[in-house]
Amino acid sequence: TLFLDRIERLNPEINAFVTVDREKTLKMAAAADARIAAGSAGPLTGIPIAQKDIFCAEGWRTTCGSKILANFVAPYDATVIEKMHRDAGMVSLGKTNMDEFAMGSSNETSFFGPVKNPWDRARVPGGSSGGSAAAIAARLAPAATGTDTGGSIRQPAALCNLTGLKPTYGVVSRYGMIAYASSLDQGGPMGASAEDCALLLNTMAGFDPRDSTSLERPAEDYARDLDKPLAGLRIGLPKEFFGEGCDAAVMAAVQDAIAEYRRLGASTVEVSLPNSHLSVPAYYVIAPAEASSNLSRFDGVRYGYRAPDYGNLDDMYMKTRAQGFGDEVKRRIMIGAYVLSHGYYDAYYLQAQRIRRLIANDFVAAFESCDVILGPTSPTTAFKLGEKSADPVQMYLSDIYTIAVNLAGLPGMALPCGFAGGLPVGLQLIGNYFDEARLLNVAHRYQ
Ligand code: GLN
Repeated sequence: TLFLDRIERLNPEINAFVTVDREKTLKMAAAADARIAAGSAGPLTGIPIAQKDIFCAEGWRTTCGSKILANFVAPYDATVIEKMHRDAGMVSLGKTNMDEFAMGSSNETSFFGPVKNPWDRARVPGGSSGGSAAAIAARLAPAATGTDTGGSIRQPAALCNLTGLKPTYGVVSRYGMIAYASSLDQGGPMGASAEDCALLLNTMAGFDPRDSTSLERPAEDYARDLDKPLAGLRIGLPKEFFGEGCDAAVMAAVQDAIAEYRRLGASTVEVSLPNSHLSVPAYYVIAPAEASSNLSRFDGVRYGYRAPDYGNLDDMYMKTRAQGFGDEVKRRIMIGAYVLSHGYYDAYYLQAQRIRRLIANDFVAAFESCDVILGPTSPTTAFKLGEKSADPVQMYLSDIYTIAVNLAGLPGMALPCGFAGGLPVGLQLIGNYFDEARLLNVAHRYQ
């Protein structure tokens, strides 16, 4: 009840949670207590967690930050939720606010209103997992789930002084996680430390026959290497991440972190990701294309919102979608439908897919001379509420350092690396495929 009480007191101001159900939470807590008493507890049994409202949880309202799902109660558990509740005995505190359908970098596109950054309530927490980040930063929850399609775990973690991990694509099941851009979406943990993230990932990860892109791999203990010394570690510094585009104060904090890594025995080597300047344009073709297709299921027929007054079926579709989706979602659907349409497909969508391949190849080449790649997570610290919401391109540029990782399917982490102007700065670590344990080790030794 410690966290539930804090949520009751502080959430009206922070707006990190959209749904809290005290009764359900207390019931789960009682079940966890029974499990502990019976001696069958796991390492996370009874640990409270906040769930991003993109994960379906049976009997819980699951909104994805949208009016179109504002009254949708999920009939089943996402695999991630099932693993946490049933296998691990974790206790969900509620569902956290997010950008509508995870589209955004500031949590301002949510139907349920913006989330405030606990470090400065006039500023954004980042997005789209902004509610999860703010919940942890305001100590309304010790840990949370997030999803990362183009930085949505790492950027809010950076802006709220947290540690967050986006796993290799395919490591965490997407079953029951409402789809935004299916080839990029990946769920992952957010917490106060790399150690917390490792324990959470142990619970979240694993092959799932219900997700066709889930990867069948032997189970791993992601915490196994946490304490390994860093002597001999080769850190790659992409020259494209250290040029212009990043705030000087953010860069200074990143440089301090690099110096600390050298003290810890790591060496640094310059690497190059020559196509990284193309990642934002390629992403903002591919992600909307997939979104326009995924979001066609919200038609007012099977579930969710339906416009109250309409003529024929077409009119019902149009009114439902016009009223149910917010501006940013509509913008993405229009971009997506356009780049996929006959006559434009080759020029935009296929071209973006080619760039995606080049970006992935850049990483493969870079990892020939280093073990992890390091850089900033976000080019700025938390910006003011409203500062970028009128200018989509400015908003999209918040993602310059995070998006390439999703296009390549690689694992990436954000972790705190000091402050600039009183606001948290997040370091980013990028690993080779399936190198989560190493990333967590590199983060943990620094922490
Ligand atoms: N800002 C990006 C977007 O709006 C990232 C979103 C995400 O990772 N879910 O698409």
